Amino acid sequence: MTETGSLIMNNNHSDAIVVGAGLAGLVAAAELADAGKSVLIVEQEGENSMGGQAHWSLGGLFLVDSPEQRRLRIKDSAELALQDWLGSAGFDREEDYWPRKTAEAFVEFAAGEMRPWLYDQGMRWFPVVGWAERGGSTATGHGNSVPRFHITWGTGPGVVAPFERRVREHMDQGRITLKARHQVSRILTADGRVTGVAGEVLAPSTVQRGERSSRDVIGDFEFLAGAVLVTSGGIGGNHDLVREYWPRDRLGEPPASMVSGVPHHVDGRMIAITRDAGAAVINSDRMWHYTEGLKNWNPIWPNHGIRIIPGPSSLWFDANGRRLPAPCLPGYDTLATLKEILKSGHDYSWFVLDQSIIEKEFALSGSEQNPDMTSGQWKEVLKSRLGKGAPAPVEAFKKHGEDFVVADDLKTLVDGMNRLTGEQRIDYQRLHAELTARDNQMDNPYAKDAQITAIHGARRYLGDKLFRAAKPHRILDPQHGPLIAVRLHILTRKTLGGLHTNVDGQVLDRAGDPVAGLYAAGEVAGFGGGGYHGYNALEGTFLGGCIFSGRRAGRHAATVV
Ligand SMILES: Cc1cc2nc3c(=O)[nH]c(=O)nc-3n(C[C@H](O)[C@H](O)[C@H](O)COP(=O)(O)OP(=O)(O)OC[C@H]3O[C@@H](n4cnc5c(N)ncnc54)[C@H](O)[C@@H]3O)c2cc1C
Repeated sequence: MTETGSLIMNNNHSDAIVVGAGLAGLVAAAELADAGKSVLIVEQEGENSMGGQAHWSLGGLFLVDSPEQRRLRIKDSAELALQDWLGSAGFDREEDYWPRKTAEAFVEFAAGEMRPWLYDQGMRWFPVVGWAERGGSTATGHGNSVPRFHITWGTGPGVVAPFERRVREHMDQGRITLKARHQVSRILTADGRVTGVAGEVLAPSTVQRGERSSRDVIGDFEFLAGAVLVTSGGIGGNHDLVREYWPRDRLGEPPASMVSGVPHHVDGRMIAITRDAGAAVINSDRMWHYTEGLKNWNPIWPNHGIRIIPGPSSLWFDANGRRLPAPCLPGYDTLATLKEILKSGHDYSWFVLDQSIIEKEFALSGSEQNPDMTSGQWKEVLKSRLGKGAPAPVEAFKKHGEDFVVADDLKTLVDGMNRLTGEQRIDYQRLHAELTARDNQMDNPYAKDAQITAIHGARRYLGDKLFRAAKPHRILDPQHGPLIAVRLHILTRKTLGGLHTNVDGQVLDRAGDPVAGLYAAGEVAGFGGGGYHGYNALEGTFLGGCIFSGRRAGRHAATVV
């Protein structure tokens, strides 16, 4: 069976085809249709998967010098944000020209038009701005100098909503057509330009959003268009690809075991398919995986991992019980910590903390793990965040999660840690000595321990003091118990490299020239340019990059089709 574009579009073809109905695809499609163009969205999952990963996200956005920041007396500027960005990115390759240009354009957007544009579409943000990825080394190095992580009311679904609404309105008017369960396997070309896509029609999906759907083929298709925009996401759900591109020279061998922070559809297939149509792929060895992964006790997708977004107080030990050195502190420097953990020869590490810390400092990433914020109801947020105990999803992990050990005394905790791994790597005397030495730094409002200094620094920011950093106290003080140990896995998430594009999302060939009729945006393009983060991300820049690059690609494509 072959279904042709003529069945659904005027004149045997649409103005543009968007491959993937994730956030970047929705933004690009909405912009194209607003410009009066006919758009076909081709998506391998069911229609209930619209929004892709963004639906599951926490909805955190990198914004600069926002009203939310100013209300909290955070002094931020485009200049400071760019300094942080460039210090984190460490652009050092010839092919970093467009990634860097895209980063500069994004920072300007994040400090200017981004918030008002999103606000006008109905988006709002939680008033306490989060301080993600603090860096912890020098002012010119990696990290956010100030809090910039703005959680959207309604979390991920709140980010998707305005763009899905715009797309559905255009669908009602016949300007956009969505072909769900259509998997693209080829990009068509003729006379040196891209002319459409071809692939397989998959059997109707019977699964809930996020669950693994079948790849049973019931037909094939070929659609033609003036331009094709690839917005198919990264590689985080495909551990074979993650291992293939793992930066062994910088991080050592890839972990033997990892959990998946993204659904199964984040399969990376479109990268090679687009390369076959002439695209250059750059920075494939740059990726962003987290070190605070939990095995989800209530999984949705295969090998489902949940990331803890930690406050600053948990003590971090490698699998052998060696405390990680600064800047490997919770929430400071993701990739330095990943490297440090793998140096131990094991692929897991431990947080050791207590009940007071878990109540104030543990947040879980993901819309379904934050039902209070996802509901968009203040009442729910205050009840959950300021009430007694940790938020319900955190308590549920403490109770049901296989990675948690809870005990009233340290000896029992250590026994539990060793029982959990089946290895006798944690030595009670050594851990006791570490915790006692750390606790002895607690009697003054200053200390020589870098982590204690970081806690005091964090609490000088009102947002952290109120919501994120527990009052400094002795961990071995039973009043703050019980003690808790959490085994942390490496969790795959984001792809920092990808299809090489210019700032307008035009895909470039190996000579650096645009491939006529071909665009890319979102994670498949390294969030813009082929990797606008460079080596390190500042957080909130993934959704932001999808919005920015989807908008630029959609608007530019609309001028040429
Ligand atoms: C739990 C979680 C929390 C997160 N939290 C944040 C956060 O707070 N802040 C932040 O900035 N980022 C966050 N992110 C990251 C962010 O959500 C993603 O990077 C972003 O949504 C990627 O969007 P995308 O449109 O590029 O790709 P995707 O969302 O992956 O969408 C791509 C779509 O293309 C489809 N597709 C792929 N290949 C084909 C093909 N061959 N044919 C047809 N269709 C195809 C896929 O099925 C999918 O629907 C989070 C991610 C997760 C999973």
